[in-house]
Amino acid sequence: MTHVEALDLDRLPEHLIVLGGGYVALELSQALRRFGSRVAVIQTASQFADLEDPDVGAALLDLFRDEGIDVLLGSHVRQVDGRSGRRVTVEVESGKEKHVLGGTDILVAFGRTPNTDALDLEKAGVQTDENGYIRVNEGLLTTCENVWAMGDCAGGSKLTHVSVNDFLIVKANLTGASRTRTARLVPFCMFTDPDRSRTSHNRRYRQGNRPRPDRRADMDRRDEVHRVRGNGYPLNSYHPAQQPVYCWFTLLCSISAPAMSCHWKQL
Ligand SMILES: Cc1cc2nc3c(=O)[nH]c(=O)nc-3n(C[C@H](O)[C@H](O)[C@H](O)COP(=O)(O)OP(=O)(O)OC[C@H]3O[C@@H](n4cnc5c(N)ncnc54)[C@H](O)[C@@H]3O)c2cc1C
Repeated sequence: MTHVEALDLDRLPEHLIVLGGGYVALELSQALRRFGSRVAVIQTASQFADLEDPDVGAALLDLFRDEGIDVLLGSHVRQVDGRSGRRVTVEVESGKEKHVLGGTDILVAFGRTPNTDALDLEKAGVQTDENGYIRVNEGLLTTCENVWAMGDCAGGSKLTHVSVNDFLIVKANLTGASRTRTARLVPFCMFTDPDRSRTSHNRRYRQGNRPRPDRRADMDRRDEVHRVRGNGYPLNSYHPAQQPVYCWFTLLCSISAPAMSCHWKQL
C-alpha cells in the first residue's frame, strides 16, 4: 500500500513493513506502532531520518527502537513477494548480509513522483525535467508563455505551505509583480512524537548536498538576517515592513550583537 491506502485503513496491520525513511514513513510507522502494530522500517540510507542532521537522526533512532520499532539501515530491498493485507516477504540486502523479513502488510513510502507524463505537456510547449517535474523559472513561469506551474509538480519542496506560497507568487506575477521563490525560508515540520521543526537549511544542507531550487542561496545566519531585513521574507509572510515586531527584533539583535561583543572585550 501507499500512504493513500494507509490513511484509509479500517483495520490494524498485525505486522507492518515500511519501505522508506522520509517524513511519511516515519510518521506513519510511529503512529501504527502506537496503535499496536508490529513495525519494521527498512531504509536505504545509513542514517536514520537522513533528511535531518546526524545527531537528530541518532536521537530519533533511539526513540523508535525504544518504542519497539525494528529499523534496518543501509538496506536495499531486492525482492518483495505476497500481498499486502495478507502475507508479504521482503528480501533485503544490508552490506554483505541478506535478510528475509515477513509481515502482514507493506507500506511503500519512497517518495512521490509527478503524474505529468499523461498530460501531453510538450504539445503546449511546456517542458518537464528528466523526473517529470515541470520546468519553471524562479517566478514559476513554465517554458510556455502565460502558463505557470506551482506546488509539488513544479519541483520545489513538497510541502503544503510551499504550494500556497507558490500560488501567492504566481498570483502576484500575474498582476505585474516579479516575485520569485529564490531564497525563501521554508519551515519544515515532522509530526513524529516528539515533533520536529526547523526553518530552511540544516547543517546537512550546508555541507554540500544538492539544494532544491527554492533553497539555492547560501544560508548562514547572517544571510538569513540580511534577507529578512532587506532582500526577502520568510515564506508564508509578506514584506518585512508588514512584520514590524520581527523586523525590530532583527534590527535590535544586529545592533546589540556588536555592542555586546565590545562589552565582553572590555571585561
Ligand atoms: C502522507 C503525506 C503527508 C504529508 N504531510 C505533510 C505535512 O505534514 N506538511 C506539509 O506541509 N506537507 C505534507 N505533505 C505534502 C503535501 O500534501 C503536498 O506538498 C501538497 O499537497 C502539494 O500540493 P499540490 O497542490 O501541489 O498537490 P496536491 O495536493 O497533490 O494536489 C494536486 C491535485 O491535482 C489533482 N490532479 C492530479 N492530476 C490531475 C489531472 N490530470 N487533472 C486534474 N487534476 C489532477 C489531484 O487529484 C489533486 O487534487 C504530505 C504528503 C503526503 C503524501
